[in-house]
Amino acid sequence: MSEIRAIRGMGDILPADTPVWRAVEATVAATLTSYGYSEIRMPILEKTALFKRSIGEVTDIVEKEMYTFEDRNGDSLTLRPEGTAGCVRAVIQEGLINATRRLWYGGPMFRHERPQKGRQRQFHQIGVEVFGIATPDIDAEMIVLSNRLWKALGINEGLQLQINSIGSPAARAAYRDALVTYLGQYRDALDQDSQRRLESNPLRILDSKNEKTQSILRDAPSLEQYLDAESAQDFADLRRLLDAVGIDYVVNRSLVRGLDYYNKTVFEWVTDRLGAQGTVCAGGRYDSLVGQLGGKPTPAVGFALGMERLVLLLQEQGAGSALEEPSVYVVAAGDEAQQQALVTVERLRDQFPQLAIVVHAGGGSFRSQMKKADKSGARIALIWGTDEVSNATVTVKALRGQARQQTIALSELGHFVSGSAALTD
Ligand code: ATP
Ligand code: MG
Repeated sequence: MSEIRAIRGMGDILPADTPVWRAVEATVAATLTSYGYSEIRMPILEKTALFKRSIGEVTDIVEKEMYTFEDRNGDSLTLRPEGTAGCVRAVIQEGLINATRRLWYGGPMFRHERPQKGRQRQFHQIGVEVFGIATPDIDAEMIVLSNRLWKALGINEGLQLQINSIGSPAARAAYRDALVTYLGQYRDALDQDSQRRLESNPLRILDSKNEKTQSILRDAPSLEQYLDAESAQDFADLRRLLDAVGIDYVVNRSLVRGLDYYNKTVFEWVTDRLGAQGTVCAGGRYDSLVGQLGGKPTPAVGFALGMERLVLLLQEQGAGSALEEPSVYVVAAGDEAQQQALVTVERLRDQFPQLAIVVHAGGGSFRSQMKKADKSGARIALIWGTDEVSNATVTVKALRGQARQQTIALSELGHFVSGSAALTD
């Protein structure tokens, strides 16, 4: 029979890597909890209309990256390409925007992109969203807490914070017109994507990677000149707070973000250690989205971090892939020995719930069981044979370092384990 393989760009996260993933997830959860954020979990499938209305019809995501299909009722559904839309839908639907909310979530997202290092079709984000606060103190909190996260993970050295303000929708519309007028003069010299975006999404031209396009942009009108007074003030306040708390940043006037719903503050944490996929975390303010999705107009701000890129960065820095190893491997030959081992080990687990104990299963000779014990990475083997059963003892064998072995009374086993620093550390 032919082998059925995974879908391109949708990888497995293998046992050697899950410990790093879990460590990142635990650090994120602990940090967010310490700032008063609560977790929310949304479905992975939503109505297609949700993403069209929030992300925007002429964005890359909606135009060419979504996994959209009809279900058996003929409804158009989409595998979520990001989390903000679903989170906003949920808080509106569940009546959670009656008060200030600090929320976070995590899980898989789906985009039909070209798979490469740091870019998958199924990837994982952790998203953070705050509803009901219009002032830039909360924008600063987003950045301060993400900064704390990088420190906790030990990757702050490799990351740079870029910030910008993209202003009010009106300011952006005025700027958009000016930009289109300017770039229209050079239409034929622009790269193809940018020519297309001139009609659909001209602000995205600003972060074109094309050199010719970038050289044309050098003399283009700047978004800064079109900023409304309130956005400019909020941006100045944000910068003052970041300066006060000692977080370095660069103002990147080309930073516009790829989704339609942003306004005012946008930011990204970027690294030069992952090649072209350098943005590890991105976010900003989206004050009109709740209203746009049918809720009571409510200011909001949020960010999402890409788990794959974070993990790559950690591994780049030497965070090892390592299988989690048990501390104890249990060897027992013969029915009675097996039974004695099972009963004793279950008692041991009651007493030491943290201890990782693998009980050999599948039979085999002592010799072959001991080979498995050696391979398991465990520190000790607990061994039961006929002698141990008849004497109510167990043999303890060290599996690392110098080979040592002793037979102790069953009643002493708990005492032995708690006295063994190697096992209880
Ligand atoms: P990029 O410019 O790299 O395509 P984006 O602007 O599309 O990123 P966002 O929608 O802002 O990304 O998502 C937030 C974060 O999620 C990104 O900064 C990145 O770390 C991660 N991310 C986005 N798309 C992918 C993907 N296809 N594979 C892996 N991670 C991704
Ligand atoms: Mg993208």
